[in-house]
Amino acid sequence: MDRDRHIGLKLTPQRMAIFDYLDGNKDHPSAEQIHKAIASRLPSMSLATVYNTLRTLKEKGGVRELTIDPARKRYDPDTGLHHHLICVACGNIKDIQLDYDIKLPKSVSRNFTLFNTQIELYGVCTGCKDKKKRS
Ligand code: ZN
Ligand code: MN
Repeated sequence: MDRDRHIGLKLTPQRMAIFDYLDGNKDHPSAEQIHKAIASRLPSMSLATVYNTLRTLKEKGGVRELTIDPARKRYDPDTGLHHHLICVACGNIKDIQLDYDIKLPKSVSRNFTLFNTQIELYGVCTGCKDKKKRS
């Protein structure tokens, strides 16, 4: 996450901690996970502050809100175009940085100009697959 983009946001210690936690984070954490990770060393951090900061960040384009996990919203500091692999067993979300050339059938492209694609691929991760095999 490019910190320069947050100029104009007052950098309180709480916000700094959230920015630092999200910076380069590839885990697509939820607000609860972010709160849990930070509150241990910054007890003044409330879950409401995490929610508010995430909302502000989202409005400023500093974080992407993912709604692909039915259980909870997840947050991605990588706002560039990329796709996601989602494990339906554990909710793990991984990036997939590939270019997919989607060819729309004429019946669709006649009435629609495609700009970009964000693909969600659902499956089971190796860890969950192994666990299932052992049980
Ligand atoms: Zn999994
Ligand atoms: Mn991502």
